[in-house]
Amino acid sequence: MVVKFIITYGNHRILGRWLQVPNLYKLAGAPLVGARSKAGTRTMKYSGSCLCKKVTFELEGHLSGFFLCHCSRCRKATGSAHGANLFSKTATFRWVSGKEHAKTFRLEGTRFARTFCDVCGSALPTVEENVRIVVPAGSVDCDVDRRPDAHIFMSSKANWDKDFEQVAKFEGLPR
Ligand SMILES: [Zn+2]
Ligand SMILES: [Zn+2]
Repeated sequence: MVVKFIITYGNHRILGRWLQVPNLYKLAGAPLVGARSKAGTRTMKYSGSCLCKKVTFELEGHLSGFFLCHCSRCRKATGSAHGANLFSKTATFRWVSGKEHAKTFRLEGTRFARTFCDVCGSALPTVEENVRIVVPAGSVDCDVDRRPDAHIFMSSKANWDKDFEQVAKFEGLPR
């Protein structure tokens, strides 16, 4: 059975579909305990932190998406070629330490939000109560058991963002 879903990200809406048993999913905020095993998805626990380690967090549950977004807002906010964000609508999230240092910036007139450590500036998860959790993949300290689902907003990518596979690679600093 097909379940259609929409991920809203910044000002973008991404339409997708799951080929899964629909009544095992509640799309907004319901805990997945019990549903996970029936749906065949795994419960995963992720831990993460900022660069200065004042802020640490844990996420337990199921990821619903992993997108590399090349839009101009993500490029500006990350200072890089693209944002890399994990999404979950159902996982349990908790700040382990330093919650008071996690500040959220919302771009006026849009739904774009970015959470960061007010000491070191590192990207941190944005928690929208009962809606979704957006976790910058680089803030996670453990392995992520999911490959990116897609590059999105390729129409907005930087002009130098191409053929990365052909760029010289070094294990450390170039010699
Ligand atoms: Zn920090
Ligand atoms: Zn974006």
